[in-house]
Amino acid sequence: MSISLIQGSYIIAGLLFILALAGLSKHETSKRGNIFGAIGMALALVFALIAIGLGQIETIEGFGEFEMVPAAPTWTIAAIIIAMIIGAIIGILKAKKVEMTGMPELIALFHSFVGLAAVLVGWAAYYSSVAEGHFTGLHSGESFIGIFIGAVTFTGSIIAYLKLSAKIKSTPLTLPGHNILNLGALVAFIVLTVIFVNHPEGSTGLILISVVTVLALLLGLHLVASIGGGDMPVVVSMLNSYSGFAAAAAGFTLNNDLLIITGALVGSSGAYLSFMMCKAMNRSFISVIAGGFGSDGAVKGEEKDYGEHREISAADAADMLKNASSVVIAPGYGMAVAQAQGAVASLTEKLREKGINVRFGIHPVAGRLPGHMNVLLAEAKVPYDIVLEMDEIDEDLEDTEVVLVIGANDTVNPAALEDPGSPIAGMPVLEVWKAQNVIVFKRSMATGYAGVQNPLFFKENSQMLFGDAKDKVEEIIKDL
Ligand code: NDP
Repeated sequence: MSISLIQGSYIIAGLLFILALAGLSKHETSKRGNIFGAIGMALALVFALIAIGLGQIETIEGFGEFEMVPAAPTWTIAAIIIAMIIGAIIGILKAKKVEMTGMPELIALFHSFVGLAAVLVGWAAYYSSVAEGHFTGLHSGESFIGIFIGAVTFTGSIIAYLKLSAKIKSTPLTLPGHNILNLGALVAFIVLTVIFVNHPEGSTGLILISVVTVLALLLGLHLVASIGGGDMPVVVSMLNSYSGFAAAAAGFTLNNDLLIITGALVGSSGAYLSFMMCKAMNRSFISVIAGGFGSDGAVKGEEKDYGEHREISAADAADMLKNASSVVIAPGYGMAVAQAQGAVASLTEKLREKGINVRFGIHPVAGRLPGHMNVLLAEAKVPYDIVLEMDEIDEDLEDTEVVLVIGANDTVNPAALEDPGSPIAGMPVLEVWKAQNVIVFKRSMATGYAGVQNPLFFKENSQMLFGDAKDKVEEIIKDL
């Protein structure tokens, strides 16, 4: 098999990944996008394995010069295939078992694997250079940078996993001078890289590469630990971006064009998504990627007395809905927990049959994943044209008779606009309180993910419908 055939298959896989990203940007085309991505990945895996088996990986000796690398021994190929089979089995089992609400932490865990792989590739490249006594400054520098990005991604993703799965608290860690610590680590990395590129060999090289690994592991840990609950959505997409750049760095180390292309696609699309989320949440991009840089990170939200809340029964809620002509549903993480999307879709259908104008208002960070609510509603077959973004529904809220807040909390919290001391201050929210009536579906008066009290629950036009969201929606359907 010729190099050009392998290179050709890599280019096709790269194009399929671009089509996958394009497809994933819209509801209607997302399934097709996923299929393109899966075919591209299968192609990439098969041809990368063939290339390793036949010894067709080329090494760039100078610009445009290639060298054939001998075929890998049979046991290496066997080990790779066994690892792939084990990985595939774990992946299939995990994917079958995972609940939609567990997706964010699973993704964070996957990012950590990419980071760890980049660290291991960097160290392996260093050791093979030591074994061959063959160091080139540029190549050593690539491995060094790959180890740094990979290690930051690894520990950062583990902390994100722990925060998202509520195994540790989401409140930000605020070490004294944490901004200086982050900046110092970055400067130290640049200095260490320069020294390493000039002296990659001997004990100096080994010490430098060990120091940068430990430094990056600590930096990743600190960066994500310093970020508060409300900013976690951006951190997830930022770690996604880092994992892409870590893969691209591993691609440079391994001279694998496809890994470079794929890593760059993931890295840049993740960075753009982070940027868009920061814009949507009115946060500074630099501040979030630098681990809360520029803020003191403290949670200043106070326990305030907002007065009494009112409660409503499912039967009364059904009566209110029967008499309404316009309804907006604002879903949040609780809808995912309750798996209420199917019931919500049935309720929507019932109300629309009665001629009531029903629409959904989706906050950009509702749930625990970008697009979390859209995925759930699409799964429940809610028509796309009534699922509107926050900006699209905002103006209509004033003329809406009933808003159903189903398991949303932080994303409908007026404190973000009214309380400058709140940890979510400045974040745009769905201003549901502007509607004539608001019914809030939740199980208790507990706070949302950011741990902030919600004055919406105490407003005159708000009523609480306590209980599991799915049960309550089903009760309403029966009463309609
Ligand atoms: P929140 O996490 O703020 O609140 C969810 C609410 O759902 C809780 O107050 C809870 O109240 C209620 N709930 C939980 N289970 C049920 C149930 N079975 N039935 C009824 N209610 C239930 O949700 P939002 O979607 O409004 O906000 C998302 C938050 O997550 C934001 O702070 C965002 O920054 C953060 N985040 C978002 C990510 C993303 O990419 N979208 C990623 C990481 C974090 P109770 O316990 O009383 O029932």
